[in-house]
Amino acid sequence: MKKLHDKTQKQIHYNISEACNLRGKDCFNPLKRKIQWNLSKSCNMRCSYCFNTLEEKTSPPINLDLEIIKKSFMRLDPSIIVITGGEPFLIKNFVEVCEIITKKHELIILTNLSHDVDPLQFCLRINPEKILEISISLHFLFREGTYEFGEFCYNIELLKKHKFPYRLSQIMTPEIIDGFPIIQNSINSKIYPKTLEGIYNGKKYPTAYTEDERITLLEIIKQVNGEEPDVYMAKKILEGYSDKNEITFTGKLCSSGYDDIVIVEDGTIYQCWNQLVPLGNFFEDGLLWWDEPQQCHYDWCACPQMGFEDTEKYIYGDRSSIG
Ligand code: SF4
Ligand code: SF4
Repeated sequence: MKKLHDKTQKQIHYNISEACNLRGKDCFNPLKRKIQWNLSKSCNMRCSYCFNTLEEKTSPPINLDLEIIKKSFMRLDPSIIVITGGEPFLIKNFVEVCEIITKKHELIILTNLSHDVDPLQFCLRINPEKILEISISLHFLFREGTYEFGEFCYNIELLKKHKFPYRLSQIMTPEIIDGFPIIQNSINSKIYPKTLEGIYNGKKYPTAYTEDERITLLEIIKQVNGEEPDVYMAKKILEGYSDKNEITFTGKLCSSGYDDIVIVEDGTIYQCWNQLVPLGNFFEDGLLWWDEPQQCHYDWCACPQMGFEDTEKYIYGDRSSIG
């Protein structure tokens, strides 16, 4: 299959549906490519449902080579860079990395914003206009006491004060489904519920949700969101997992690797989170893309959210009839 080097990157005008515009505004701007960059698995929290192993989480925080970062990101056309981890704020020179990237690109950052995270320098040095979203995971069950919770709330207030767009979310374990109103009342920001996908207390979710838990969870998601795309996605994931262990899109046209791509710590580029088809190395070769959407050849999808977004762009041109 042919690949397209970033030097010939073209603007993409596909028939974008709401399904790929999950967060409202322009987080998923159809004219820009989205690059999901997992820059380190090191993390200070120990959420039991985490995909990363304990060894990965306890790896020491790193310092990134700013010259390589500069060279690699400056040769890309303006893109949306989604920074994931681990906990990205633990990277020693994270603010400098963000300064370089935001000279040309827009950022979405996924963080736990815990007490080890100090966003002050970030707030003072980064232009909030270049941040599309700071996506904060609350992980309520894994916060250590009131001090930690106090620092977390303080950090959110800091982001608010400096006008950074943020979105607070909580992974919905069964006990959180029951206690959601109490948790919501304990914090001065709207909490967006997220379906649990992973192993928790020895069970595989979301398959392990009971029927009652599914109904209640969907009700909470509807009440909180009022945004059809989020409700639609949660419903698809809950329904998809109710009768089988994995969600598959085999044979469907998927835009991962074409306008939405994954880069991991060492710079290896993958079509998607299944990470079986390396497309090259970002730091050495620049960014390599498929020159058109490809059929999904995987037996299962490692990231159903990405799978639904990137396959349904092509299935649903008009989603007005989807309930
Ligand atoms: S905060 Fe995220 S990366 Fe860290 S342990 Fe929890 S789920 Fe894993
Ligand atoms: S549907 Fe999922 S597994 Fe298949 S190519 Fe797309 S993102 Fe990858």
